[in-house]
Amino acid sequence: RAKERRGNNYFVYSGESEPQKLKDITLETKLYDALRLEQLQLYYQPKIDIQTGKMVGMEALLRWIDSELGFIPPDRFIPFAEETGLIIPIGEWVLERACLDVKSWNDLFDLDLRVAVNLSPIQLALPNIIETIENTLRNTNVNPSFVEIEITEMSMVDFNESLVDKLAQIRAMGIAISIDDFGTGYSSLSYLKNLPVDALKVDRSFVMEIGLSETGSNMVGAIIRLAHAMNLEVVAEGVEREEELVYLRACGCELAQGYYFSKPLPANEFFKYVMNQ
Ligand code: C2E
Ligand code: MG
Ligand code: MG
Ligand code: MG
Repeated sequence: RAKERRGNNYFVYSGESEPQKLKDITLETKLYDALRLEQLQLYYQPKIDIQTGKMVGMEALLRWIDSELGFIPPDRFIPFAEETGLIIPIGEWVLERACLDVKSWNDLFDLDLRVAVNLSPIQLALPNIIETIENTLRNTNVNPSFVEIEITEMSMVDFNESLVDKLAQIRAMGIAISIDDFGTGYSSLSYLKNLPVDALKVDRSFVMEIGLSETGSNMVGAIIRLAHAMNLEVVAEGVEREEELVYLRACGCELAQGYYFSKPLPANEFFKYVMNQ
């Protein structure tokens, strides 16, 4: 499928067969119903300060479990939601749910956890995205410093002043911004230098090479030094092994998330995780 950007609109050219189109329509209906009937769920994965071992926040990760189709991975339905535009109402729901959850946990346990929400490039391109975020902050009454937004390098495909401006406005609200999956996408260093962001997330594909080859480890060390040179915090994604953690800590990496600490958990289980901190 070819996709073309024009202004803020996505045009999808589908050279699809009729049966495929029918399948897509069924999927679109199902996904829309899931949103409408509150059948989408947020899971939370802790973000750990690896120098102190304490949890500082969590990432909200969307889950869709359909009664007929079963578990549909986000890597499949998010791109689909982006093509159909469903990502817009879904994304609004995700932000609101995450704000409500973090507020209730922080209030209840007297904590200052920060929730990270993934923002699709489609959402970021919307002219009213700033308004939407402001409204959500207001309606949920959450402290903006308890909210963080993760954008991927895909958001920089059409890097322009308006993007920089929007990020600056989001940050001015008190929300932190991080670059997700760093090193796998479209960001050039000259873009990165000019982006008003706070943190960089080292993609799991780099983290998993730690200790497997000298080059693998060195690359991660170099990415961390690069981030620090730009005054950015570093979050390591997908930490699974002790050896990765030890190396990341030695490199001065601030935060990490991964199965080594915890898998993403449904809200009720994450609640217990927070309680036992
Ligand atoms: P991401 O934002 O880079 O999220 C990290 C992914 O790595 C998650 O996959 C998480 O479950 C997985 N992960 C975390 N630790 C480990 C580990 O130690 N080992 C392995 N193998 N995997 C680990 P998930 O939940 O399947 O999400 C995939 C992607 O879907 C996310 O990548 C994000 O780009 C997107 N996504 C998820 N939820 C949302 C959402 O609410 N909105 C948008 N726009 N995108 C979302
Ligand atoms: Mg993310
Ligand atoms: Mg990521
Ligand atoms: Mg990733």
